[in-house]
Amino acid sequence: MSRKYPTKVISPIIDSMADARVEILIDEATHRWNHSVIDGVFIPEEAELIKSLPLPQQGVEDRLFWPFTQTGTYTSKSGYRFLKSKDESSDSSARAVEDRELWQGIWSLQRACRNSLPSKENLVRRTVIENPLCDRCSCANESALHALWSCGELDVVWEDLTLWNCRNSLSFITFKELLSWLIKHQHHLELFLVTVWSIWTQRNQVRLNKPSCSPHLISQLAKERLQEFQAVNPHPSSIRSAPPTVQKWKPPDHELVKINCDRARFAKENRAGIGVVIRNSEGLVLGSLSKLVLQAYSPLEIEVMAATTALDFASDLGFQRAILEIDSLVLVKVLSDHTEFFSTVDLVLDEIGHKVNFFNELHYSHVKREGNIVAHILARHAIRVSDVVVWMEDVPPPLFPVLLADIAGFS
Ligand SMILES: [Zn+2]
Repeated sequence: MSRKYPTKVISPIIDSMADARVEILIDEATHRWNHSVIDGVFIPEEAELIKSLPLPQQGVEDRLFWPFTQTGTYTSKSGYRFLKSKDESSDSSARAVEDRELWQGIWSLQRACRNSLPSKENLVRRTVIENPLCDRCSCANESALHALWSCGELDVVWEDLTLWNCRNSLSFITFKELLSWLIKHQHHLELFLVTVWSIWTQRNQVRLNKPSCSPHLISQLAKERLQEFQAVNPHPSSIRSAPPTVQKWKPPDHELVKINCDRARFAKENRAGIGVVIRNSEGLVLGSLSKLVLQAYSPLEIEVMAATTALDFASDLGFQRAILEIDSLVLVKVLSDHTEFFSTVDLVLDEIGHKVNFFNELHYSHVKREGNIVAHILARHAIRVSDVVVWMEDVPPPLFPVLLADIAGFS
């Protein structure tokens, strides 16, 4: 997996799919990931990672790459850093196993919601066993909701009324209904998940005659476990400093057009946006575009896609001599130096290679964000667009003042 840790897939293997290949995850007709298959096979975190990998439109050879540098090539520095971080986490290799169990547990909660958790009630329905009664209390059928929440023997686990008063005051018919309520009310969800996972684990240990903790300890252990988990996975904070100088947009030389492009990433919506504006030496707009991408790819991947879209757009309009201007220094360097990537970025870079051939003259230029503001706003605008919108010799009206400011900046 393209992440630091754990590097291998941890989603539980589905027996009937043990020999399946990656191609079953790809829709043959559209060359896109088949989201419903991926969501059904992998735990949510891994499903998201897979769906965020860009797929090329043409078939390409498989290749290996080193996942810890941006270019995908191994450097001894990155190797050292990897080993060091692995070292630091080696005392937590036991934790890795635990984390894996936790993820698998939370995955099985999803099964509880779909009512396919192997509770006794379900096993009876599938004629695996005959007696659906709960082993803990022997007085009700063991549904997922009963086994994890409503069984009287679990009173000791959910006894903290400052947290779980809802257990007494509300009644739920299915586990899914309970979980939906907790999600909707943002009700101690993490603690709930860890507690429920602990209950299910303890239940299975007892059934298998393996050592297990007393139900009295479950709630305390769950709280400690959650604290540990939060200490290792703090919420990321963003630190940004303001740019010291302002750089304005400049028009191209007489016989050239300037193509500015930018990207936006909408993490919450899992979408990305691309904005392109093409202007001549007088600063007049020849065309502009706003395009929605149905996946929040990595910033560099979207950057490359934005450049591909920009070149495509310019060549569609018949411009053969151009400057492609972007605010990513990395990408300008990549394009100018023909850097080869051995990573997923390469899949999208390949496509730029084809577009470049169309131009008789093509230069790359870097501008700071303030000089790329029109393209940036067009990229942000993409979230309001269903696919792609093009304005010929124009920009959307809200952009007029920005455009005028750009023109005023150079006259
Ligand atoms: Zn019971």
